[in-house]
Amino acid sequence: MQIVLIGPPGAGKGTQSVRLAEYLQVPHLSTGEMLRDACLRKTDVGLRANEAMQRGQLVPDELVEEILFERLEEKDCQGGSILDGFPRTVPQAVAFDAWLGKHQRPLSTVLELRVNKEELLERLSSRGREDDNREIVLARLDQYDELTHPLLDYYGKRSALHVIDGQGSAEEVFAQICSIVDARK
Ligand code: AMP
Repeated sequence: MQIVLIGPPGAGKGTQSVRLAEYLQVPHLSTGEMLRDACLRKTDVGLRANEAMQRGQLVPDELVEEILFERLEEKDCQGGSILDGFPRTVPQAVAFDAWLGKHQRPLSTVLELRVNKEELLERLSSRGREDDNREIVLARLDQYDELTHPLLDYYGKRSALHVIDGQGSAEEVFAQICSIVDARK
């Protein structure tokens, strides 16, 4: 199953997609993790992505697409995967649709994790990642509103989108996700 999780930073995408990947026995692909790894290893993509990431901005679409599409072609992803953090812009979603069409892989479902802003700020301030200081967090939330939020319309229009209430405990949120995913198996 090819599943996409969308949600602002701090909504629990990472936690929930790891669990879902384990449940469905498919790889969990986080573009944020891939990019952080590329930065640490100082690869070509890493060097080009580093500055935007430090500022809490999205990295250019073509960089993320390059790194993700290469990974999706690997053998372990043939049966599907859980995408955590991609697509994050409408142009990325359009490129992803083209990629899926070319590889004859259907998109099973898109899950939106919804959490209100006060709760997000509280969660992010206690996480302690390098890009989690207040100023950068606010920049990342702005980027979400401006660039990622329009994706919800994009997927909503073709009824691929399911909204999950992300405010509850990790168990409650995961139970909602499973009920949607199980119904589509
Ligand atoms: P995340 O771990 O998903 O919160 O991502 C951390 C950072 O990586 C983001 O703030 C962006 O700078 C970058 N990033 C991750 N995924 C994407 C994407 N799909 N498009 C652009 N930038 C991304």
